[in-house]
Amino acid sequence: MKPAPFLYVAPRTVEEAVALLQEHGTDAKLLAGGQSLMPLINMRLARPEVLVDLNEVRTLDYITEVDGEVRIGAMTRQRAVERSPFVATHVPLLSEALRWVGHPQIRNRGTIGGSLAHADPSAELPAVAAALDAVFVARGPDGVRLLAPGEFFVSFLTTALEPAEMLVEVRFAVPSAPAGCAFLELSRRHGDFALVGAAAVVRLDSGRCRDVRLALTGVGPTPVRVREVEEALLDQPPTEARLADLSRGIGPRLDPVSDIHASAEYRRHVAGVLARRALAAAAARAQAVGGGEDSPS
Ligand code: FAD
Repeated sequence: MKPAPFLYVAPRTVEEAVALLQEHGTDAKLLAGGQSLMPLINMRLARPEVLVDLNEVRTLDYITEVDGEVRIGAMTRQRAVERSPFVATHVPLLSEALRWVGHPQIRNRGTIGGSLAHADPSAELPAVAAALDAVFVARGPDGVRLLAPGEFFVSFLTTALEPAEMLVEVRFAVPSAPAGCAFLELSRRHGDFALVGAAAVVRLDSGRCRDVRLALTGVGPTPVRVREVEEALLDQPPTEARLADLSRGIGPRLDPVSDIHASAEYRRHVAGVLARRALAAAAARAQAVGGGEDSPS
């Protein structure tokens, strides 16, 4: 199909983009990589009257480190983040999860900000942001707002961004060593959206968990942090038996949907299995970098 007619504008600065959003309100839509928006527009599922193309706003394309945080501009391509040695070193969970996002062609165009702002409940990056307590930097006519993942993700394809606000940056604190992470997902074919995905980070000290993060995708309208499991693992060694026991309790707490891809019951089961495997892999990696029992505390 062809899109409905729209006015196309290509601002060069964040200020111009925000001014356009303020002028046109809900009639305007931001265009980033277009990998989610263009199919919707072409099928007339989205009918913006004004398309505000962010691709000329070059200042939003960066990966940098400030005060122990990795900061990524909203227009940074997913592929650039995936291939960044700096990100691989400091936020390896992000690099690992990105390899599950669609296909390289999609990641060449798709942006970090577009994926997070789109807030697809089966997407990988929202779960990574939730697991790492990322900070979302929103810019509007009144300035900048910082939002936590629990504030940013509101519901299915819905964020807390106001009509005249845009996401300009996402910040990830660098986890202190020795930590390991893992991202696992199940999809029907590689490149499809996840049926369920699990993002885990484990920091060990003398073989015991000092910090645990577990977030799931595909099991609710927003990414789900599994804090009961995180807390139950604190100060405990992440043994196979303990992980298996805790992971069995995850499914019953979730309320996923049934759809043509999988039943809610199947998603609950897979969530427990992936959570256990992701936590075990993260713990093994933490052990390998010095968090094992024999390491100095
Ligand atoms: P766009 O499509 O341009 O925009 C998406 C939405 O975000 C729009 O509503 C837009 O207005 C809004 N937006 C964009 N930037 C901003 C901003 N800075 N501030 C506020 N709002 C903004 N994604 C996955 O996560 N996992 C997958 O497995 C996956 N598989 C895919 C397979 C295919 C075949 C395709 C076509 C896409 C797939 N995607 C997948 C989607 C892909 O990751 C998109 O790149 C991403 O969802 C949107 O990023 P984008 O930069 O293309 O944003």
